[in-house]
Amino acid sequence: MRKYDSIIEVQNDLRSGVLNLPQLVRYYVSNINAKPQLNAFLEVWEEEAIKRAEEIQNRFNKGEAGKLAGMIIGLKDNICFKDHAVSASSKILEGFKSIYNSTVVDRLLAEDAILLGRLNCDEFAMGSSNENSAFGAVKNPLDESKVPGGSSGGSAAAVAGDLCLAALGSDTGGSIRQPASLTGIVGLKPTYGRISRYGLIAYASSFDQIGPMTRSVYDSALLLEVMAGGDEFDSTASHNAVPEYSKLLETKGKKKIAYIKDCLESPGLNPEVKQRIYQLIDQLKAEGHSVDPVDFPHLDHLVPTYYVLTTAEASSNLARFDGIHYGYRSKDAAGIDNTYKKSRTEGFGKEVKRRIMLGTFVLSSGYYDAYYGKAQQVRRVIHDKTMKVLEEYDFILTPTSTNEAFALGENTKDPIAMYLEDIFTVQANLAGVPAISLPLGRKQSGLPFGIQLMGRKFEEQELLAFSQKMMNQEV
Ligand code: GLN
Repeated sequence: MRKYDSIIEVQNDLRSGVLNLPQLVRYYVSNINAKPQLNAFLEVWEEEAIKRAEEIQNRFNKGEAGKLAGMIIGLKDNICFKDHAVSASSKILEGFKSIYNSTVVDRLLAEDAILLGRLNCDEFAMGSSNENSAFGAVKNPLDESKVPGGSSGGSAAAVAGDLCLAALGSDTGGSIRQPASLTGIVGLKPTYGRISRYGLIAYASSFDQIGPMTRSVYDSALLLEVMAGGDEFDSTASHNAVPEYSKLLETKGKKKIAYIKDCLESPGLNPEVKQRIYQLIDQLKAEGHSVDPVDFPHLDHLVPTYYVLTTAEASSNLARFDGIHYGYRSKDAAGIDNTYKKSRTEGFGKEVKRRIMLGTFVLSSGYYDAYYGKAQQVRRVIHDKTMKVLEEYDFILTPTSTNEAFALGENTKDPIAMYLEDIFTVQANLAGVPAISLPLGRKQSGLPFGIQLMGRKFEEQELLAFSQKMMNQEV
C-alpha cells in the first residue's frame, strides 16, 4: 500500500475505490507490528478500530460520513478516552481507565476519526526526549539510535514512522513542536484556550494545550477546526468563532516577519541550522516579504521562568495522585500518610519527583515572592514584549530546536542540558500565542530540523495559510 501524507489523498482513494478503511487500519497495524522497537504505541485498539472502520466505510459509501473519515489517529497517553487506559506514561496510573471522554476525543469521534491507540510519552509530559516514560524510551524512526524528542515522542514517532496518519500531542513548553522538529513532521501548538483541555491530564494548566501532529499543514488545519472552540467543561477554552481553517489555506500579500537576532546568534544553536535559517530569511526577502531582526532582551529568562512556573503548577496538579484516588497503591502501605508517601515514592519517576520538589520549593513560604512571584512578573514582561513584536509583525520566525535529533542517553545525565532543548519553544507557551513547527530543514546528516513560526493569538488561520506556502520552501 502507498504511504499517505494527508487525509485528502486517503479520501481520494476511498472515493475511487482503490482503498477501503478497514484495509487502511490493517496497514497501520501491520506497520506498528513490524517495528515494535520504536516503542511508540503502548496499546493498539485494533479490533475496535477495524469495527469502526467498517461502519465509517459504509457511511462514506452513502455520502454520509463526517469530515475526518479516513483520519487514523493515535492519542498521546495523557488524553482521556472513555473506558480506555490512560497513564501519562507513569506507573502511578497503573490500571486506571478513563471514565469520560476528553472534549477533543468527543469532537474527533463526532467527525468519524478512528482512534487507533495510545502513544508513549514522557511521564506526565515532562521531558524533551521521551526517555522519561515508565514504559521505556521511544526511538526516532529516522534513526533508531536517536531520540524522537519529547514529551510527545510517541506521537511524533508514530506519524513520522507511518504507524498512523496523525496524532494528538500536548504542548506545555514545546512538546508538540520539538518532537515534530526532530522527526520531520508538522506540529501545531494552538493559542492558549483555542482547544479545550478537558480530559487532558494536567501538567501546568496555564501553559498546556492539545494540538495536532501531522504530515501535512492541511491535516493540521482540519484537525484544529474540528477540535477548537468553547467548552462548558473548560472555562479557559475560548468561545471565539472557529474558522474553517482547512478551507482558508491561501495566504495573500506580503508578510512582515521578525526574527530574534540573539536567538540565531545563541551559542547553543548548531552552525548548520543557523546557516540554513539565514538562507531561508534570504529566500523570504527575495519573495518580497520583509524580514527584520528584532531585539528580545529576555532570551536568558525564558527557560528559568518556564521551569519555575510549570514546576509550581505541576506540584499542585500532581498532588491528586496519592495512592488513594487513582491508580497505583504501594503494596506495603499502612495508614494514610504512609500510603501517600510510599505510593508516590514508588509510583512517580525521577524527573517527576524532581519537578514536584522544585515546584513545592518555589511555592513555599519564604521563597514564594523570590521565585514564584518574580517568575509571574517576568512572564508578564515576556508576554508584553512578545505582543509588542506581534503588533508590528505578522510572525516571529525561529528554529524549533537547536539541532537535529540527539542520541539516546546523550542528555539524560544533565537536566540543565535537557531543559535548554526548550529554549526556542517556551516563549509561545509563556505568552500564550500559537506556534507551529514545519519540517523544512534537513541537515547534511539527512536528519531534519524544524522551522518555527509564532503568530498572533487566535490568528491560526494566517499562521496555517503561510505555513502551507512555506512547505514548498525546503532549506
Ligand atoms: N520539554 C519541556 C518540559 O520538559 C516541555 C514539555 C511539554 O511541553 N509538555 O517541560
